[in-house]
Formats: sequence, structure tokens, C-alpha cells
Amino acid sequence: MSYTEVVKSSTNAFQALPNTDLLLQSAELAEVVATFGNNAVKIAIREELESFRSEIADNNRLVIDQVLKEDFFGVICENLVKRLTSADKNTLVPVINLSGTVIHTNLGRARLPESAVAAMSLVASAPSNLEYDLETGKRGDRDSHLEKLLCEITGAEAATIVNNNAAAVLLVLNTLAPKREVIISRGELVEIGGAFRIPDVMIGANCILKEVGTTNRTHLRDYESAINSNTSVLMKVHTSNYEIKGYTSSTTESELSDLAHQSNLHFVSDLGSGTLIDIAKYGLPKELTVFETLKEGADIVTFSGDKLLGGPQAGLIVGKKSLIKEIKRNPLKRALRVDKITIAALAEVLKLYTDPDRLVDRLPLLRNLVRPLNEIQMIAEKLFPIFVEALTDIAEVSIEPCKSQIGSGALPLDLLESCALVLKPFAEKGETDAKLQNLARKFRGLSTPVIGRLHDGKLIFDLRCLENESELVDLLNSNTWS
Ligand SMILES: *Cc1c(COP(=O)(O)O)cnc(C)c1O
Repeated sequence: MSYTEVVKSSTNAFQALPNTDLLLQSAELAEVVATFGNNAVKIAIREELESFRSEIADNNRLVIDQVLKEDFFGVICENLVKRLTSADKNTLVPVINLSGTVIHTNLGRARLPESAVAAMSLVASAPSNLEYDLETGKRGDRDSHLEKLLCEITGAEAATIVNNNAAAVLLVLNTLAPKREVIISRGELVEIGGAFRIPDVMIGANCILKEVGTTNRTHLRDYESAINSNTSVLMKVHTSNYEIKGYTSSTTESELSDLAHQSNLHFVSDLGSGTLIDIAKYGLPKELTVFETLKEGADIVTFSGDKLLGGPQAGLIVGKKSLIKEIKRNPLKRALRVDKITIAALAEVLKLYTDPDRLVDRLPLLRNLVRPLNEIQMIAEKLFPIFVEALTDIAEVSIEPCKSQIGSGALPLDLLESCALVLKPFAEKGETDAKLQNLARKFRGLSTPVIGRLHDGKLIFDLRCLENESELVDLLNSNTWS
């Protein structure tokens, strides 16, 4: 019986619903069956029919009339195609970061260079010698693919890599100071976004936190007088996301390392962002590099792979050979180790650092950070008329100077001069905020979501990190804004 005949002979809407097999074998659904498989389509059909049945049971007149019409078969097929294709969409998608925060943790931090992406793809699609020594044919060490490069760049004796810097700190402390005291300044008991808080990390690592000094001033003698027979580590933590200003005093790396070594203790420095090169030469604020920190006498230095380094998410641990050896033997290392795809990407990014002269051209993060203001302004001027045209009657568009943040707790007080397209929705009094939220939501709803910053009743698009202008133009023109 054809579906038209089914509908004609039906006395009620329940009877008129097509059955599963009829749908599954229909020409209308042949393509989705080929794409998603019989099983997935069957499940979708069952869900779709169930929702119609419950509407009919609720006596929803609109639905009942719809079901009893002869074109209903086409309608339900269309619904099914939509249901299947939207369920197939990934929730993790690329976005355009115009938030003004260059290293944005919620937006995935650093964008990787092409060479790193290619290397990731290669090891992802084939077996590799991840832990296999091609020379001897015996078991190898996954860190070996990175250790030499890291030592060359930082001057360290040895290195190991874990999942992120939080894991690096945890692993180092758990290895060097289980049930023993770690001395740290009260000015450095930081919380880094979410759950990484130094006092909690100490507990997690099974260490005893011994805080010394005060919030604004900690002297060498404070550390000195806190040392006892159960002390194992003197630690310095980079106050990444805040700065203490005014009447302050802290102890330098070299003072702390001297004290540690005189007392037979380890000096550990968590640099957080961890720069491998002197970024001051690009006009960025001076940060102690990993190389310099080791030179000042740190036994172990930990830092992130995806903050100022501009690589994939990883935690890097560099320092004394004997200590790295101990750290690698900790069973926690196995639980925190990185996968082959991260190793492939990190190796490529580290390779770029061996040629610092070309780093700005090759490392997207650095390129974004040092992008000249006049280049950003030029993009703003090019996009301005296109925004004005697309958003006629929707928002007033203007070009305004703004300041970008480096982000991810890197140098929180140092802002970079930038330029933005600023959107101010036309709105009656009292509905300004609703209109603004709505506009921001529309930009987030584009096929590639565009993320701006809301401030002072305006939607601000900082253009510093925009690399693909034509993509943004296409998105803008393909949407209906009214
Ligand atoms: C960011 C940061 C961390 C955590 O690093 P992740 O790579 O995000 O895990 C730890 N310590 C400091 C000082 C940091 O700035």
C-alpha cells in the first residue's frame, strides 16, 4: 500500500503515521541511510514517531491535521534528515576569537603552526616509534622525542613532559617532597582559573605547605628560619594572574637557590607561562625565561606548553638529571603522561624555537602578540563598510582603539594597543541589554561562531587575532541579521 492509500484509509492520526519499514526503505531517506547506517536511522525514526504519537495523544490539533495531510510523508522524512544531520554535528568546533584575549583558556589557548598540525596528523593515522628504539629494536622512551630539543633550548640537563603544567607541579612535588615540607611565600599562594590553587595542590601532592613571609613582603630570612629537618623543597610560584604593587619585597631566584643548596634542599620554580626566549625584544614585557631561571640555580622548572610557548596543552619539567630521573620513576608519571599527538605537535613547535629569527613568521601565537597596530587598523578599515552594510538598522558600527590582553594569566597588567570594530545595537530605552545579548548570541550562532567581548553596552570585536578576513566577511554576508 502506498502512503497516500494509508492516509486515505486511516480513520485517525495514529493509523496515518507511516511505519518504520516504510520510512526506512523510502527513496527520501536512502541518502541518510547510506550515510548514517540502518541502525541510526531506525532509532531516529522511532524517536520521531514517538514524538508525533505523544502530540496526537495530547490531542494537538495542528499536529493531527498535519499527519492526516497527504504530504506528511515528505514532512516526516525532512524532519528525520534534520534530526540525523544535526545529531551528527560535533559540539567542539572552531571559533573566531575576537575577544581581545590572545591566549584564551576557554577558547583553547594557542593556535598551532601548520607544521605541528601536519605532524599530529601523521602520527595519528599510522603506528609510530613512540616508545620504540629503532636502533636497538627495544623499548624506547616517549620523552626522548622532546628531551634533546628542550635541553638545547633551555640549557637543562634533562626534561620530561606531562599533560599540563598543573600536572607538572603535582608530579614534581609528589616526587620531591612526599610527607615533607615545601616552603613558599604567602605572596605566591596563587589560584589559577578554576581548581588550581597552590594550597590544594600541596594536599593533592601529599606535601606539607609551609607558608612564610607576608602577602606583600617576603625576605630571605623568612625562608631561612622556616627550614627544619622535615623541609624538602623551597618553591617559587609565578604570580601569573596578579601583581602585588607598592611596598613589596620578594626574594630572587638566585638567593633562594643558594639558600636551598646550602641547606641540602631542592629549589623548584613554577614559571606558569614559561617563555623560552626573551620576549622583550619584540616589545613585550620582560619575563624571566626558562633558561635564565635554570641559570639562576633552579633545580627544577615547570611551565605550560600552551601559554606563551604557543604549543599544545602540556606541562614541561626541566632541570637536574638526577631529579628528572626520580620524577620519571614516580607511578603518577604514567597517569599524567602525554599522548603521541601532543608529542608530535610539541616537537614541531620546539623546533621553531631553534631558529628564533623566523619565529614571529612561523609561530601563530607570537605573530598575534606582536602584530603591528597599523596592520590591525587596516583590517578594521577594510571590514568597517561591510559591517555597516550588513548591520544596517541593527547596530551602529564604529572603529575604536582598544587594548588586547595576553591572557591565561600571562602578564596580566600588560595590555597591547589594538583596534576594534564596536557594535552598538539600535534599541529603545530599556531594551538595550536584551538587544546587545541577542546580537552577541547571533554572532555566536554563526556557522563558525564569532566571539567578541561585551563592555559598556557594546559588542567589541578586537581584530588582533583575526587571520582570515574573508571568512568573517562571508559569515557576515550569509546571515540575515534583522
Ligand atoms: C597556568 C599556570 C599553571 C597551570 O598550568 P596549566 O598548563 O594550565 O595546567 C600553574 N602554575 C602557574 C603559575 C600558572 O600560571
